[in-house]
Amino acid sequence: FRTTPLIGRFAPSPTGALHTGSLVSAVGSWLMAKSAGGQWLVRIDDLDSQRQVPGMADDILATLERFALFWDGEISRQSLNLELYEQAFQELKRKALLYPCCCSRREISQAASAPHPTDDCLPYPGSCRNGMPEGRTVRSWRVRVTDEPVCFHDLRRGMICQNLLTGCGDFPLRRADGEFAYQLAVVLDDRISGVNQVVRGDDLLASTPRQIHLQRLLALPQPEYCHLPLVTGPGGTKLSKRDNLVSHHLGNWKDREGVLLHRVLRFLGQEPPAELSGASCPQILAWGAAHFDLRKLPRKGGELTLVS
Ligand code: GLU
Repeated sequence: FRTTPLIGRFAPSPTGALHTGSLVSAVGSWLMAKSAGGQWLVRIDDLDSQRQVPGMADDILATLERFALFWDGEISRQSLNLELYEQAFQELKRKALLYPCCCSRREISQAASAPHPTDDCLPYPGSCRNGMPEGRTVRSWRVRVTDEPVCFHDLRRGMICQNLLTGCGDFPLRRADGEFAYQLAVVLDDRISGVNQVVRGDDLLASTPRQIHLQRLLALPQPEYCHLPLVTGPGGTKLSKRDNLVSHHLGNWKDREGVLLHRVLRFLGQEPPAELSGASCPQILAWGAAHFDLRKLPRKGGELTLVS
């Protein structure tokens, strides 16, 4: 039972065209928002200017439209939220929750006692926690974490807990060149657009405790989370994003969006009738929204082939 309207979102980074993995996130977040009568927003995560590829934001949006995945309201962009990130950063700094750090990735991985399961989070040993050695230059600003588990209920995975101190350590919020970290940006982006349901790929599950930590420090409400199974290459290998570009394959197909959309629904464990394969995208999506069942989301990911 929900007292406020559900607001979900899809937040692609314009670093490449939409691939099958991101299509699953788009369709999954759309289905979960629409099956609950909610809104579905789209945000372009254009924070990392160096990794962006010109034209990709438009390419992604055009692909979403081909699947009739129409968004509510205006598209938002991280590049328009920089002032907000600055304010939050200054607030945390005033509260002495941040400190400057001079450590390079190399120094951190050398100091780490064991290889770490999540590659996006090198466990930081806290070398600069009580001050930087003299004569070194600042590389980043880190936020302090505490030695206790941060737990949340994931709608697919159940209870997830991580002790941020032992699992990750104080993590960077800003680089010395001024660029803000994704972890800080995303909690603020979701907050200003009123997002209360975050549905995204399982690859971001490991980031969620860090994001919840920031929500708590900044007194922001915590959205509900659902991390979807990942699309893999053959035999469970990492998906080759280049070989799985949706628009590239659709270009060779004729009116095959419906076939692919039907496959995405099946990938998400939903059981659309076979005769719906190849129907129009609005028809398939309408079926999906009317029949979406969270309990059917599979425990494991797998392949999602583009070619028939
Ligand atoms: N922009 C991020 C990505 O494409 C996703 C952000 C999120 O869903 O929180 O990986």
